[in-house]
Amino acid sequence: YLYKPWQMKKTTTTCNYCGDGCQMHLETKDTEVVRVTSPLSWKNKWGDRSETAKGHGGLCVRGRFGFQYIDSEQRLRQPLVRIGDTLTETPWLDTMQTVIDRLSDIHRKHGPESIAGLITARCTNEELYLFQKLMRAGLRTNQLDSSARYGHLNYVHAVRHAVGIGRPLNDWEDLTKAKAILVIGSNITETNPLTAVRIKEAIRVYHSQVIVVDSATTNIAQLASHPLLVKPGTEPLLIDGLVKAVIEQDLVDETSTAQHPQAFAALKEAVAQVSLDQVSAQTGIPIAQIREVATIFAEAPRAIALCAEGIVRRSNGYQNVLKLIDLAWVTGKLGQPGSGVTTVTEEGNEQGAIDMGVAPEFLPGQARFDDPGARERFGKAWEVTLPATGTGANLLEILARIHSGQIKALYVIGENPLATLPASMNVKGALEKLQLLIVQDPFLTETAQLAHVVLPAATYAEKDGTFTNLEGKVLRVRQALDHVGESLPDWHIMTALANGLGYEWPYQSPQDVQNEIMKLLPGYYNLGQPRRISPSPDAYLSNGYAAEVPKRYRRPAAEASPGDDVRPFVLTMGQVLYHSGKMSTQASGLINIEPNNGRIRMNPADMEKLGLTEQSTVRLTSRQGSVQAGVKADPDIQAGSCFFPEHFNEPPVKDLMTTEADPVTGVPYFKSTRVTIEKVGA
Ligand code: SF4
Repeated sequence: YLYKPWQMKKTTTTCNYCGDGCQMHLETKDTEVVRVTSPLSWKNKWGDRSETAKGHGGLCVRGRFGFQYIDSEQRLRQPLVRIGDTLTETPWLDTMQTVIDRLSDIHRKHGPESIAGLITARCTNEELYLFQKLMRAGLRTNQLDSSARYGHLNYVHAVRHAVGIGRPLNDWEDLTKAKAILVIGSNITETNPLTAVRIKEAIRVYHSQVIVVDSATTNIAQLASHPLLVKPGTEPLLIDGLVKAVIEQDLVDETSTAQHPQAFAALKEAVAQVSLDQVSAQTGIPIAQIREVATIFAEAPRAIALCAEGIVRRSNGYQNVLKLIDLAWVTGKLGQPGSGVTTVTEEGNEQGAIDMGVAPEFLPGQARFDDPGARERFGKAWEVTLPATGTGANLLEILARIHSGQIKALYVIGENPLATLPASMNVKGALEKLQLLIVQDPFLTETAQLAHVVLPAATYAEKDGTFTNLEGKVLRVRQALDHVGESLPDWHIMTALANGLGYEWPYQSPQDVQNEIMKLLPGYYNLGQPRRISPSPDAYLSNGYAAEVPKRYRRPAAEASPGDDVRPFVLTMGQVLYHSGKMSTQASGLINIEPNNGRIRMNPADMEKLGLTEQSTVRLTSRQGSVQAGVKADPDIQAGSCFFPEHFNEPPVKDLMTTEADPVTGVPYFKSTRVTIEKVGA
């Protein structure tokens, strides 16, 4: 390093790459991040260890080396306003006046239902709170959503439905001490490496039984006692088999089921239709193995099912999580300390986005938007009448309403729907239809390039606030650097906008916003200490749980669709180290690891059959069209399937996908399709 330790400023803050929420030191000199270290990696000669570093002092490669996006040359340094076809650098005052005039004009002419907003779950809690307040109490619209809609809301709605708590039911200590862990649909070593460390600790130190269900041979599968390599896309079906095996083998915990006889009767009836022969044929896992792992999970004194994108970011993700809850409940693992069903999240503050009410169905504190008592409480606190119930819109509904012409102005903070969603959704057509697209972001994203106004936003390293990690702990974010160029923190821009629109917001700092949140959600900032306890066994599975059980065990209709016979490969898109790529693809420390990553990963045997080498170019064709891509051999991918890491937008593999919405939660699913693969070059 160029600098000595005493020449640098060391700021303890929270990593915002993923929901693990690791504590880190940002070591900075003037406007530059020099390095990132872990609070524990600097333990002193007496061995003092930071209380906050739950990852045993670890930071993963993203947190440790992926910081260059913070002071990247690509950062936006000035506001931009579209003049003709060109986004032109414009002073802040003029830019804000343009936004205020045009937004007010649309609001006056077309009403609140002509305005909507999207925000990233990498903003702080205080910013997320302000965003929904600006939308609801200021602009009077309930058309708003966050990136938690891409999957985490399936988990949250499911656990709320089952146990009345809308966040992960376990923390990292629970994982370490669990005697059995079922990891299903999660490449956790790449997506949430520090949670993975806890599972590895459980394996190595506590000799826990770890069952990994996945359609690829992941790193955690290689360490697991029971790796179950299922056929692509059949992870949810395997849960049916596990529940069936538990009931069939009389492994049921009678204390748990006796408390909810109706729900248990409904479950037994629903599962009677499940045939282990059929599950085995569909998943490729022998019946004996299904029975064996069901027994391990049921008989362990403490067991946790951990699910992620292979379960929650799937069609019927909500019901998939509920099936895991069924499994935990009938085996006595729901409501018991140290056991349960948990999840991991991609973005640093997805839990906070939901807790702060950035979803049309929730007010802050996850109060239902249509709950009269909550509406009255928040309406009184904000001195407004809230938008009428039934007028809200989530991500996909917002896009539909833009297409239909109802929504004319969209305020996007840190999100990039044009790069995230497949071409079949015609996001570009929707955005081009808007009279006003405001994008607030640290970078000129694909969506920002279509905007009428672009507002340069600060990164987490340039602001104060809090994140809520996936253990439900509220963690401090501390400003380490001055803002790059004329960029500003999101809370600051939103406050200026609200005041320009005449709402008289008094906030001078994130602390002022925190004070307001503390009044409305007493105890929120203490969530982590003492740790929230599990729900008591008699406080769950109420209100309609039994009635919903049959829906999730209905046998799927024949899966084949026209043309499947000629499209032999299952193509799946998913997360690896780089996640969605919103920040990671701007960080040279990460891109250097695997610069040429936009290639289709295939099993070497399939490559050989098709005469492919790593220099080949292939054409992938789905029902949606064709895309050309390079290929990479990956023995961890099953023959008959292929994988594309979703973080790079080129080649546009996501455009081969169609989109379905979860019928309960509106979570979009667009991660898998059948394709043909043919060699076109080299
Ligand atoms: Fe950051 Fe997640 Fe890595 Fe921790 S595990 S350092 S929160 S990216």
